[in-house]
Amino acid sequence: MKTNFFCPKCQGYLSVADKVVFAIKKKGLDGGLLLLSPNLGEYTYEYHPSIELIEGEEIDFFCPMCGYDLTLEGVKKLARVKMQIDDKETFWVVFSKKKGERCTYKISDGGEKESFGEHSGLNIDILSINLLK
Ligand SMILES: [Zn+2]
Repeated sequence: MKTNFFCPKCQGYLSVADKVVFAIKKKGLDGGLLLLSPNLGEYTYEYHPSIELIEGEEIDFFCPMCGYDLTLEGVKKLARVKMQIDDKETFWVVFSKKKGERCTYKISDGGEKESFGEHSGLNIDILSINLLK
């Protein structure tokens, strides 16, 4: 199975090698790069040692190519990207912007949800396909 992540705005690929690349900002950090695992439910973060990420703090995610803010419209604490499997089906992948909050949702174009992570119960109620665009 081949999985590709891409920006919903510029359609540029966020997948590089075996990681998904994001530009990030947070309080005290004007810009950095963060690599996440492409495997939903696997929470590994890789970033430059000069960056300090604290459990529970909120990180803003941006497309590293076009700078698009990946925050889910109307739900400040979640971010979203597009995912494509085997060059065919596309999904939305929604995840928490909080470091240490393990919840990820895969949502089909038809609105079917699949959740991942030990905290996935947290946001499931506020998630609706209507939010995604
Ligand atoms: Zn983009």
